[in-house]
Amino acid sequence: MEVKLASHYGFCFGVKRAIKIAQEHKNSATMGPLIHNQKEIDRLKKDFNVGLYSTIKEVKEQETVIIRTHGIPKNDLAELKKNNTKVINATCPFVTTPQQIVKKMSQDRYSVVIFGDADHPEVKGVKSYGDDVHVVPNSEDLDSLVFKYDKIATVAQTTKQKEKYLNIVNSLILKYKEVRVFNTICDATFENQAATRELSATVDIMIIIGGKNSSNTKQLFNISQENCVSYLIEDESELNPKWFANKLVCGITAGASTPDWIIQKVIDKVEKIEP
Ligand code: SF4
Repeated sequence: MEVKLASHYGFCFGVKRAIKIAQEHKNSATMGPLIHNQKEIDRLKKDFNVGLYSTIKEVKEQETVIIRTHGIPKNDLAELKKNNTKVINATCPFVTTPQQIVKKMSQDRYSVVIFGDADHPEVKGVKSYGDDVHVVPNSEDLDSLVFKYDKIATVAQTTKQKEKYLNIVNSLILKYKEVRVFNTICDATFENQAATRELSATVDIMIIIGGKNSSNTKQLFNISQENCVSYLIEDESELNPKWFANKLVCGITAGASTPDWIIQKVIDKVEKIEP
């Protein structure tokens, strides 16, 4: 099977940075999963003894705790610092930016709209920095919101699509006199998405590699599906040779939390499949 790789794929700047930080702090633990890829988390545990806490209560005094790329809620951070914990912040700078915007806009008495998924850890963290903050997954949900202030500021989850964010912005502008729009969508996400769009239009089948709970991987999958038959897998063991019957060219891309060593194993296996 002929394999074509997307021109941009895999680890982004924020994830590379977080992994480097974790590797530099052996025998520490992360607060929440460092990135959305279980296999990489397992590797960090095995090779660097970097563990994982799910709640603040589990953290023992004096321990070194690394804050994940998506950040944590403000109160959780304060709680950790109170406990004599050594806090190493691996929050991606592109996530710190919307946190700080929400903080500043709230201080300036703006109600804030976050375009994002309320359950996503990044969004929970960003929301915690403000006062009157509302999370909406799409523009229809704006109708039911009641704002505390008459000025609105809006930010987006870093992995959201720009086109969909524009729908939120348009709806807000139609209703409110003052709307401050911050484009907090991450370039790395754009680049991987554009490369996926381009490649999926030229191949017979696409394989998207990444965590099934990773928002940016799911978006690559959705984009790819618009152009050709696509499969989302976490590693090479999920590849099914039947998918490739009568297909000649397979495109491969990967989400921003997918390590190169997993991508390479998938490439090797797909290349050996007989079309
Ligand atoms: S996708 Fe962007 S915002 Fe998210 S960790 Fe990577 S660089 Fe940071």
